[in-house]
Amino acid sequence: MRGNVQPAVTSITRQQALERLRSETFDVLILGGGINGAGTARDLALRACVAQVPLRIGLIEQNHFGSGTSSKNSHLIHGGLRYLRQLAFGLVRESLHERAVLLRIAPHLVEPQLFLMPLAGLAREIYYNLGLTLYDRLSGNETLPHHRRLSLVEVRRLEPALAAPGLTGAAEFHDAQVRSGRMVLENVFEAIANGAACANYVRAEARERDRGGLWRTRLHDTISGQIFETVARALIDATGPWAHDPAPRLVRGSHIVLPRLNASDHAIAYFEDAGRIIFLIPWGERRDRTLVGTTDVDHTGSPDEVHISEEETRYLRSIAERLFPQSAQYEPVATFSSLRPLLASTGSPTRASREYHIFFDAHGVLRITGGKFTTYRLMSEEAANMIAAEIAPVLRDVHVSADRALNGNTREAVDELLAGAGQLAASYGIETSEVTMLVRQYGVLAPAVLEYIPAEAPANLSRLDAARLKYAVQHEMAQYARDFLEVSTTLAHEGRPALLPPGCGVRASRSE
Ligand SMILES: Cc1cc2nc3c(=O)[nH]c(=O)nc-3n(C[C@H](O)[C@H](O)[C@H](O)COP(=O)(O)OP(=O)(O)OC[C@H]3O[C@@H](n4cnc5c(N)ncnc54)[C@H](O)[C@@H]3O)c2cc1C
Repeated sequence: MRGNVQPAVTSITRQQALERLRSETFDVLILGGGINGAGTARDLALRACVAQVPLRIGLIEQNHFGSGTSSKNSHLIHGGLRYLRQLAFGLVRESLHERAVLLRIAPHLVEPQLFLMPLAGLAREIYYNLGLTLYDRLSGNETLPHHRRLSLVEVRRLEPALAAPGLTGAAEFHDAQVRSGRMVLENVFEAIANGAACANYVRAEARERDRGGLWRTRLHDTISGQIFETVARALIDATGPWAHDPAPRLVRGSHIVLPRLNASDHAIAYFEDAGRIIFLIPWGERRDRTLVGTTDVDHTGSPDEVHISEEETRYLRSIAERLFPQSAQYEPVATFSSLRPLLASTGSPTRASREYHIFFDAHGVLRITGGKFTTYRLMSEEAANMIAAEIAPVLRDVHVSADRALNGNTREAVDELLAGAGQLAASYGIETSEVTMLVRQYGVLAPAVLEYIPAEAPANLSRLDAARLKYAVQHEMAQYARDFLEVSTTLAHEGRPALLPPGCGVRASRSE
């Protein structure tokens, strides 16, 4: 394999993890491979390695890693202006701090994103600019430039088609965008590289504590159909919307994806009349889509069945049309929805708390609930502190996850690859822009993906996508088409759900 960096996962990694799950007694078993489960596994595995303390860590996920809320969100790493409006200063400060950390440790996956907030009238201009001044202050560092006020002339130059009612100017500010699904995968892979046993398509079906205090969890490998028991000294429940006893309040958030609407590379942050903030984000691997979201609707059905309603679609389209009237001519190319497990509360879903809660429940299971993608590393660190205090006190104060570049993706390493994109492209006979896109998705593993470029493109796929598919099967535990289309890549969510060639290594669907 060319390139300096080897993938941590190979075609036998899942099988090896299953064998370990059957035979070893784990120090900790993590249920749920969304960003919180994956982040906690990475954090614990890194601590154990750095301190050279043996720690047996297991992580199981009932579908593909990252396939839940963690790949179907707004893909923003942000302080959260709406939380500022709710006066949740602590959450905003914490999130802005984490924004700086993630920009540093995962520069290939987290990138600065400029925002434009259209404003109508002097009173609003003063109000929102004051709010953004506070936002800048709370960031407490100089990672991203501070906001600035834009005149109407500047706004018109940037976004000639923007038709926000009563527009008199705008505020420009920075936050960041993340490739969420890949961020989850990379956390899992770094945990594996540091000794954790992680397997997807394994569902936890029941658990009980035996007389010796060990947790016995019944696991179902839904690929082979086999059911077996795994034993662990401690359990972490990171099942998010699927948690039960007690089940969280579930609020559905939906997005529609439209062809790219705006001219500049800014995302639009628009406070609509009810005070909800709606984002229109330049999005997708080629940034030729506009991601519009999100809604907040109480969800009473199963967490396995989450779809946008007609009313949500109408609402999001109406906002898009209000800002960019030409969007009326487009049908959404894709939609996706997911659930927020909010801390139990009543009242408007938009105002319910996004703050997180990490606690030992009455049975002694450590539970991670609530929070934001942005704060996942901090939440994972806190969960790791709490579990370490129980199972390996010497690791309680070993904090490394904010200092270690994710899988070796330092700024320098990523910049070096980007600088050599032209050369790499020439040697594989593809476009430089394709290599650049690949580095922004796979970082230092981009050369390993390029190794799979076929001489000829198969039906329905570009040569690069064929390489990414092969890589997902060999090195990312992809089992089903959607694992590749929704987590390894965002192709399905961009409205590009390619039909994958037969014999490519993934099953088309569950029923196959
Ligand atoms: C619409 C929407 C937009 C959002 N946008 C943003 C944003 O832009 N920025 C931001 O910071 N935050 C955002 N968030 C919040 C963020 O996405 C979530 O906080 C985060 O993804 C939660 O991760 P998680 O690991 O807790 O949950 P999940 O990603 O849902 O993971 C839980 C996992 O547990 C698995 N699981 C469940 N039961 C079992 C079982 N029995 N056995 C094995 N596995 C099981 C599930 O399959 C799932 O993969 C958004 C949330 C929503 C809903």
